[in-house]
Amino acid sequence: VGGAGDVASFVTGFEEMSYGDVSLQVKVGVQFGLFGGAIQQLGTARHHERFLPGVLDLSVVGCFAMTETGHGSDVQALGTTATFLADDDVFVLDTPGPEAWKDYIGNAAAHARWAVVFAQLHTAGADHGVHALLVRIRDDDGTPVPGVQIGDDGHKLGLNGVDNGRLAFEGVRVPRDQLLDRFAAVDADGTYSSPIENPTRRFFTMLGTLVQGRVAVAGAGIGAAKLAATIAVKHGERRTQFAAPGDDAPEVRLLDYAVHQQRLLPRVARTYALHFAQQELVELLHAVATGEVTDEEERRRLETRAAGQKALATWHATDTVQEAREATGGFGYLSENRLGQLKSDTDVFTTFEGANHVLLQLVAKSLLTRYRQDFGSLDLLGTARFVAEQAVDVVVERLQARSLVRSLIDAVDGREGEVSVLDRGWHLQLFEQREEHVLQTLVQRLRRLTAEKGAFAAFNEVQDHVLLAATAHVERTVLDAFVAAIDACDDPAVTAVLDRVCDLYALTVVRDERGWFQEHGFLTGARSKAVLRAVNGLCSDLRPHAEDLVDAFGIPDGLLRAPIALREVGEPYLDARERLVADGVLPEPEVGGRG
Ligand SMILES: Cc1cc2nc3c(=O)[nH]c(=O)nc-3n(C[C@H](O)[C@H](O)[C@H](O)COP(=O)(O)OP(=O)(O)OC[C@H]3O[C@@H](n4cnc5c(N)ncnc54)[C@H](O)[C@@H]3O)c2cc1C
Repeated sequence: VGGAGDVASFVTGFEEMSYGDVSLQVKVGVQFGLFGGAIQQLGTARHHERFLPGVLDLSVVGCFAMTETGHGSDVQALGTTATFLADDDVFVLDTPGPEAWKDYIGNAAAHARWAVVFAQLHTAGADHGVHALLVRIRDDDGTPVPGVQIGDDGHKLGLNGVDNGRLAFEGVRVPRDQLLDRFAAVDADGTYSSPIENPTRRFFTMLGTLVQGRVAVAGAGIGAAKLAATIAVKHGERRTQFAAPGDDAPEVRLLDYAVHQQRLLPRVARTYALHFAQQELVELLHAVATGEVTDEEERRRLETRAAGQKALATWHATDTVQEAREATGGFGYLSENRLGQLKSDTDVFTTFEGANHVLLQLVAKSLLTRYRQDFGSLDLLGTARFVAEQAVDVVVERLQARSLVRSLIDAVDGREGEVSVLDRGWHLQLFEQREEHVLQTLVQRLRRLTAEKGAFAAFNEVQDHVLLAATAHVERTVLDAFVAAIDACDDPAVTAVLDRVCDLYALTVVRDERGWFQEHGFLTGARSKAVLRAVNGLCSDLRPHAEDLVDAFGIPDGLLRAPIALREVGEPYLDARERLVADGVLPEPEVGGRG
């Protein structure tokens, strides 16, 4: 999918691969997204011409070797070195010690012949920071080339269809023209040059171009949540348990139990919300990647949104898969019903492409600096200092196109107290007030504490506050996206249901955060109880639409594959399994463990 520069198709197709096999999805992501993407984004025309056709037809199989055993989140601290030898016109790649082995690298343990290696670049005794080079690691028959050591990370919690491995380099000579030199070049005499003078800014610019991976993993998380929610909701519609009193009373479907609705439907609603936010994010990515949008500020907005969306979407996936597993009881524990594999395979989404807590700090950084020109030249400590020194106004910035949101919020003014808990303007206002208040008080604390204790201690002391600011921001942008999607829908029946789903998303966030809202005077105790009642009421209102809501995710039966989700209402499980095997939808069952 998505050749010819169609980034949106690639990322959307990638999301849908969550329905099939997540190991295969990650193999695809490593080869085409990470390896090919790094060549595309960090390389120049000669790299594109020489390598990209082979990346696409798999004659050049590669990996993306950034993380080391000693450093994952802190990429600037990598230990691998690439030292330029002018006499031989090569970089010499070295791993200085065990902590600097490249680690967890997808495709490295078995299949990759090439690697994009991130290393500290040295020329004529000067250190220029982390840069990427294309390095041959195995010859065509798969033998590691001289100087390259390769290990296997072994069995993992999940994704065991991916060969994650370790790499070390000793005096490996890399021709000068294999430096991926879009952002920095080295001449034959060893002269280093870059269009971006500030090294921190250069580093963040380089990493920023790799944003597509984060957008893709966010999508993969949403795809996994869609699959898990579909399996659990369909099971809830088919499975009966206990009967109401009375001789002839039929057994009750799980989804007719209030708590079952309350476990599953808010997660379906959040999946919808994240889906719409993802659509906007993919459109922005596409516009930036195709050059339709060239504005620096939009690029930074893309990076921020990608980081925030990736964190929230992958946590949502982990949460939804777990709830789906429990909501499907013993059936959900059987491998043939897919949730176990999905759970172990998607768990790492919260870690790779940036650990989620670290990503939320990046989101907060851009909020604190308000996407300023010098954004890229600040690390987190620089951000704390910046905030301490500048008079930063805190206002929630919305896209121009959000006049709809503004008018809904303005319509709430003056009616506080009487306004319905289902009023969309009130939801939007609450989300905005939370974001503004959390950010405002964060700025005040950072200013005070930085003066007292210095930037590092200050930032560390307010770290939970930083994460809350980022979360409040992302949840607000997700709600905005949902509201915009409903506005764009021209089918009144669909709009009516989506409106209720959006209410459920918004009020679930308010319910979960009701402690904070009450502590800060945005919600009275009585209104908080009203929110709780509304959430439960919405779950019951939406119950008749539950299966339609998951059917709308459009997962074909051949990909859904879980017998609990595919059996007819009233059809015994074992009969359904037999039918699905006979129809070729399911393979013959495997013999599993006993007890
Ligand atoms: C299956 C798998 C595949 C992978 N594939 C690749 C690949 O192909 N290429 C590649 O280069 N890498 C790959 N990785 C590596 C992955 O990107 C890193 O694991 C990830 O960036 C986290 O780094 P780390 O493991 O060193 O964890 P750490 O950075 O040590 O983080 C551990 C925990 O500490 C938290 N933490 C870290 N710093 C801070 C801070 N400043 N404040 C608060 N909390 C903090 C994190 O949020 C996290 O919860 C893969 C990893 C796995 C598990």
